[in-house]
Amino acid sequence: MVTVEEAIKLIDQNTNQGPAENKKLEDALNYILFSDVFSPIDMPPFRQSAMDGYALNFQADLKSFEVIGEIAAGSSELFDLKPGEAVRIFTGAAVPDSANVVVQQEIVERKENKISLMKEIQIAQNIRPRGEQISHNEVALKKGTVINPAALGFLTTLGLTEVVVHRKPAVAILTTGSELVKPGTPLKHGQIYESNSVMLMGALMNYGFEKPTMVKVKDDLASTSQAIENLLAEHDFILISGGISVGDYDYVKEALTQQGVQEIFYKVKQKPGKPVFFGRKENKLVFALPGNPASALTCFYVYALPALQKFSGISQPGLQKVKLKLNKSFAKKPGLAHFLKSTISGDIVTISDSQSSAMLNSFAQADAMIYLPADQENFPENSTVDVLLIR
Ligand code: AMP
Ligand code: MG
Repeated sequence: MVTVEEAIKLIDQNTNQGPAENKKLEDALNYILFSDVFSPIDMPPFRQSAMDGYALNFQADLKSFEVIGEIAAGSSELFDLKPGEAVRIFTGAAVPDSANVVVQQEIVERKENKISLMKEIQIAQNIRPRGEQISHNEVALKKGTVINPAALGFLTTLGLTEVVVHRKPAVAILTTGSELVKPGTPLKHGQIYESNSVMLMGALMNYGFEKPTMVKVKDDLASTSQAIENLLAEHDFILISGGISVGDYDYVKEALTQQGVQEIFYKVKQKPGKPVFFGRKENKLVFALPGNPASALTCFYVYALPALQKFSGISQPGLQKVKLKLNKSFAKKPGLAHFLKSTISGDIVTISDSQSSAMLNSFAQADAMIYLPADQENFPENSTVDVLLIR
């Protein structure tokens, strides 16, 4: 039995970042850059007008200018402006080399082909210099950066169409339990609907992972062992639900041993989710999560998610942790850390009514889990606690 902190550390030590993969930029949303990306161009690629107005060859004391032409965005027409000459220009258009300022149309008075300035101006104003955002061969985004929508846009402005990212893990969910049936069939006495697989799939997809392989087995050693063998062959991670406790029909641990999965830890000093197993076979990682639904999801968030995110290249994996004030006092026995389903409002975190590991009713409405360390017994109202944010 290990502490929560030891378990998290052991998982980190046994998880490697996933290998590199080429991705089309359009498919790369939420992937993590495997290496630095260098800009293939200057951006902007030319001196660019930031306003609709006039580009001038301005010299001291000149107040009026002759308009000799027009440059719209996208035009490649070149003008050689002499002192006192101007061109009509629009936002995004290329400013002639001979122009030293763009004045916005609002401060200009135009009479036929003559314009005069109604305000003081400053040389170079409203001209975006070539390479102002980034120069050719400069690092555009560093390795480890999440490709968010803005990053997609930024890399596309540089003309890139492909990036090298960390591959996302191939994940399988193996559900065990002879009492479990698929919704759509009426329940016989003693049966319940199987819900952990869809819940874990939802959690994976919520954090941007690919759709997992889903397999179900009854409480039977041979079929559990066979399923683990098959899934190990084709996945980086296996998440197993149920069958990892100490009941007579819990076969997961024995099946894992049969398949050569080495135990890294079994059981964590926590509530809920004490009977959780983490192991590896070569570079394949296995999390055997408790069957009770709230325990399974808690263990997914605290243990499986950081490993999956680290594999994907995320530099600070795991749920985001914040400090908030407890809505009411809470007491517990020492020895086990607690994860309490909770809701956040402002800087107050409210402990949900139902904390049963068998129930999902409060979890379904929670946006956070309060983490109470193992050794502390009393948590007064308004005291500051660690809170893990969930999506
Ligand atoms: P176990 O860890 O297999 O002993 O299961 C603990 C409890 O969780 C039992 O009440 C199971 O019926 C329930 N349970 C296990 N797996 C699932 C599942 N996939 N969906 C819903 N409930 C489950
Ligand atoms: Mg079971």
